[in-house]
Parts: sequence; structure tokens; C-alpha cells
Amino acid sequence: MDYFLQAAKDPALLALAQEAEARIGQEYAQIENIKAANQMKVLAAFRRLRVAPSHFAPSYGYGYDDPGREKLEALFAEVFGAQDALVRPGLASGTHALACALFGMLGKGDELLFATGTPYDTLHSVIGSESEPYTLKGMGITYKEIPIKDGNTDLAALAEALKSAPRVVMLQRSRGYATRNSLTIADIEKIAELVKRQSPQSILFVDNCYGEFTDAKEPCEVGADIMAGSLIKNPGGGLAPTGGYIAGRPDLIERISYRMTSPGIGREVGSYAAGYLPYFQGLYLAPHVVAESLKGAVFTASVLDLAGFAPSPRYNEKRGCIIQAVNMENENQLCAFCRAVQAWSPVDSFARPEPAPMPGYEDPVIMAAGAFIQGSSIELSADAPLRPPYTLFIQGGLVCEQVKAAVLAALHECGHS
Ligand SMILES: *Cc1c(COP(=O)(O)O)cnc(C)c1O
Repeated sequence: MDYFLQAAKDPALLALAQEAEARIGQEYAQIENIKAANQMKVLAAFRRLRVAPSHFAPSYGYGYDDPGREKLEALFAEVFGAQDALVRPGLASGTHALACALFGMLGKGDELLFATGTPYDTLHSVIGSESEPYTLKGMGITYKEIPIKDGNTDLAALAEALKSAPRVVMLQRSRGYATRNSLTIADIEKIAELVKRQSPQSILFVDNCYGEFTDAKEPCEVGADIMAGSLIKNPGGGLAPTGGYIAGRPDLIERISYRMTSPGIGREVGSYAAGYLPYFQGLYLAPHVVAESLKGAVFTASVLDLAGFAPSPRYNEKRGCIIQAVNMENENQLCAFCRAVQAWSPVDSFARPEPAPMPGYEDPVIMAAGAFIQGSSIELSADAPLRPPYTLFIQGGLVCEQVKAAVLAALHECGHS
């Protein structure tokens, strides 16, 4: 590991890194297995659907019969084991894709049951309040959530809540920026069985952000009716420049497509003048890139643990998403860590992150990201609100060497060796 000396600076820290690396062989082997399964699934889909250079071409105007767009959607559906998919540069973010699906599936008087605790921050304003007419609650949709129990989904409480036969039961696969565990595919399968048994009419919807390709199956392959995510996270492979996807049951996809564009028009329009090449290439590379970020996260957990921190998840825990959390000792350490991550980025390495107020947060937030694609969190980034217990969230990494260098440099800056 001598090539990391420039980042670690200190031979003692390098020895710690070596020890951290030596004990994660089994985790790396598991990641390689999942990667191989996913990579073969993706390659098989490209071959079966006869992807050709003509599909990468740009389109203009309405984009009727756009061959690139149609092929890309068929490809995502195939890879995700879903019957149908919408994959669009015009879905501006993961939140937009999730909101589009929710507004497409829910109507006045319906109930939305969120089964995995409090949703991801950006969904709070989608759920909204009765006094905001453009939100779910404002449109007369009832919202309930089931608190997390000991880090996991409370299945007994879920079984009870299913008695009201909610129109949509929603799960969040990733831990997000919370302290709960991520859902594994086995967890999702178990929840899907429960929902289908107790309330067969309910639609099971999964927020799949940060979860794609972390396991050999996706939620729609184990009973989810529909799922959505961001293309500047896992499935864009670091190359997709923007966009979101929604995949699942054709009847639901049709309804959602009328919300996405317009009733009557649905999925038939949508051009992309920049061309689809990065989407095809990104999906092709995604299993590999997700494996790189998982390797980076496992190493991070291993070395932070040896350095005396208590990372979550631990290096040998099963992961259902790419997020790694760790509590720092104080504000200074938090900032020093983020600055080292920034300094070891390929882009904006010279920038110095400063804590700043952020809309939606009560405390100042510090963020490190030196990404090719602005806001892309399949590229390495680290962020934290400045408040006890000083939890830092680290995610992504197109190449795991960058993650290792950044974390070693960060540990050095934090005064650990
Ligand atoms: C990132 C994320 C979102 C929102 O995605 P954006 O692209 O940031 O809007 C929603 N849910 C989870 C779990 C996420 O990780």
C-alpha cells in the first residue's frame, strides 16, 4: 500500500491501513460476487435488446418514437427485473422521480403508509401539510409512518397498519442520512410477502436511491410493484449527467407517465439533444462503479474502526446501500475530515469546504464534493450537520483508491495514526 503514503503521510497510519485492508478479504470477495452477477445481467440485457450505436443519437423536439429513449427504458426494465420503466433526463432528481410516482399513484382520500421510519429529508416537503395545496397532504392524501424499531422495520406494527389497506406502502432501501440500517433485498422480500398477504391491493413502492446494484437482485424482483431512483447515483455509473428512473408494473407506469408529462401524452414525448451515450455507458459500468464505492466504504469502516471510531455499518455488516456513517469527536475533526476528502478529489481539490446554513437544516452543514457531475453522490462525497454526535456521512467513489487516499489523509488531518 506504499502508494498511499503521500495521502497518509505517516508510516504508522499506513501500517493501520494495511491492517484494515488485511481483514476485509471476505467482504471484498462478496462485493466481487455481486458485481459479477450484476455485470452479467447488464451485459445479457444489452445483447438481448440488441443495443446499437444508433441508440446513442440525440433527438429533438417532441421526440416521438425516439429510438434511444425507448431502448434505454427497455434496458432499465430488463436489468431491474421490472416489466416497464421510465428513464428520463427530464426527471431532474431522485426526489422528482419519487414525487412523480407518488402523485401519479395517489388521489384524494388515499392513504400513503411509510414503513421505514421518517423518509429522506427532501420527501418531507412532498408530503407537506394540509395548508399547502400542491403537496400530498394538501391534495387530501392521508399520511402515516411506522417508526424504526432497534434500527429495523417494525414488522408487527406494519402488519397492524396494513389493516387499513393503504393505497401505497412505501419503503426506503437506503439508510439515508439517518442511523437506521439499510434494507437488504432479503428484508424487502420479507416485507413484500407480508404486504401481499395482509393487504393484496396495496401498491408496494420502494425508494431505491443508493441501493441499486448493492445486491444481486433489485426490489421489483422480490415483490415490489414499483421503485424509483436517481441517475446521478448508482445506476448512472458516474457518467449519466442528470435524470431519474421509475420502474415497475405497466399499469402504474402508465398512470405515472401522465403525471410526468401530461394526461393523454404520457411517455410518448421527451427528446434529448445531448444524446444518450452516457446513459447507456453509465448503466453498463454501474455494477463495477457501485462495487468500487462499496469497497471504499468497507475499507473506510475497517480503518476508522481500528483508529478508534465506531463506524456504522461496521466493515463486516451486510450493506443495502452505499452510505457509510461515522461519529467524529468534535466540530474541528468533522471539518478537518471533510477538507481532506475535498483535497483528495479529482475536481475542485483546491477548494476549502466551510460549514454553512442550508435550507431544510437547523444547523450549519459542511459538505465535501469534488465531482465531475455536480451533486453526483456516486462520486465520493462527505457531509455532516454541525451538531452532536457529529455524524459524518461518506458515500460514493468512482475508484476505491480515491476513497482510501481521502480517508487516510482525513485520519492524518484528524490527528490519528
Ligand atoms: C438521494 C436520495 C433521495 C433524493 O434524491 P435527489 O436526487 O437528491 O433528489 C431520496 N431518497 C434517498 C434514500 C436518497 O438517497
